[in-house]
Amino acid sequence: MTVTQRGTVNQPTPEQPADVVARLRATFRTGRTKPVEWRTAQLRRLREMLTERGDDLAAALRADLGKSATEAYRTEIDFTVREIDHTLDHLREWLRPEPAPVPAHLGADADAWTQYDPLGVVLVIAPWNYPAQLLLAPLVGALAAGNAVVAKPSELAPATSAALARLLPAYLDTDAVAVVEGGVPEATALLAERFDHIFYTGNGAVGRVVMRAAAEHLTPVTLELGGKSPVFVDRDTDVEAVADRLARGKFLNAGQTCVAPDYVLTDPRTAAALETALVRAVEKLYGTDPATSPEYGRIVNERHFDRLSGLLDSGRVVVGGGSDRTDRFIAPTVLADVDPGSPVMREEIFGPILPLVTVPDLDAAIAFINDRDKPLALYVFSESETTRERIAAETSSGAVGHGLPLAHLTVSDLPFGGVGESGMGSYHGRYSIETFSHRKAVLVKPLR
Ligand code: NAD
Repeated sequence: MTVTQRGTVNQPTPEQPADVVARLRATFRTGRTKPVEWRTAQLRRLREMLTERGDDLAAALRADLGKSATEAYRTEIDFTVREIDHTLDHLREWLRPEPAPVPAHLGADADAWTQYDPLGVVLVIAPWNYPAQLLLAPLVGALAAGNAVVAKPSELAPATSAALARLLPAYLDTDAVAVVEGGVPEATALLAERFDHIFYTGNGAVGRVVMRAAAEHLTPVTLELGGKSPVFVDRDTDVEAVADRLARGKFLNAGQTCVAPDYVLTDPRTAAALETALVRAVEKLYGTDPATSPEYGRIVNERHFDRLSGLLDSGRVVVGGGSDRTDRFIAPTVLADVDPGSPVMREEIFGPILPLVTVPDLDAAIAFINDRDKPLALYVFSESETTRERIAAETSSGAVGHGLPLAHLTVSDLPFGGVGESGMGSYHGRYSIETFSHRKAVLVKPLR
């Protein structure tokens, strides 16, 4: 295991997870991470890391996922910079104690309020699909809330993991922030330790492992999971505009986005119009040969490539369908006439395949959604306010996006998280402070 600490960047050291946690806990106990000045200094250093060494991260993201530099900056590096700036702008205001009305029986001289206390030592476990953003955005919140942090990047994005393990200790307070690289054995060893919060992003099977381990220590968890995020396209919408926005949201990062539109529900007539519009939209984004487009990403590894290849014949290919294992390339693909029971509809796709499933009407679409796990995101394209309101009121999902997939997660003042099988808890902006703090109740009653 490589535990990175000051002076021994990227050198394997004998420091074990238990020692890392003990070291960070000792720092936390000194009170060093609590002053808002320490927190903002760490956030500024992290910002410097991203601006000075953003190109290192972009190169790592290209190596791991074939991400273009534009996409790496937009969805990972600049995304995190914005989260930092938003936090720096508002942190003092978010941390302000909140007065609570005192009941009459306590007397007029009593005072009550809530205040945010840091939790202690937090573990952040990140996945491979946005391997920088999904480690760093929780780190921003955990530091802003005054915690020490153990950060565990994903071993499936090895170049990004190595870059983060090299860069973070060079910029941040290494007595309070440690990067532990590795896979299942390392994560398992970490999970045996007592943390004050565990923030996990990834799939639900491992989410259960994390929650079980956390239960041993009564450690609270945030689980940022995935699942199938549906799209409903109403009749009489502008299908050209819908197709453009759908294709952008779906094929970003080659479909390996937790909130990517997973499948489309629409009526048969709209589906036919969408087919033609999606062919055009894909071509507009990646040309007639997406394999040669510098903007189009690759599948993370052979295992996921093979899994996705097995889903390509779940319907009639409208566009795409091609693949190349040596290059881990799967073309942006749209499938029509997809049966709800077909393999592509049985699991989260997490790749560049978009099935179109037809339903007779809105009632059937709502029933279809409610028959399945609660999604992380639900997207609606409809000109009808009644339809939009009905979907929002009659379904449950982590978020609802009307007219634009993915974008809700760029709104720092919205909580980002799932519900049911798509996760528990949320973060971003002030919601990260809620997640990584204890809201302490304080009552003061003077003796005289
Ligand atoms: P992954 O395989 O990289 O795993 C995530 C992390 O869990 C890694 O750091 C890994 O080392 C660790 N891990 C794996 N097995 C473990 C075990 N047995 N015990 C402890 N830790 C273990 O990523 P993944 O799970 O394939 O990620 C994809 C999934 O994550 C998809 O379902 C996607 O929708 C979801 N996701 C959700 C969000 C969100 O914000 N809600 C974001 C990205 C991805």
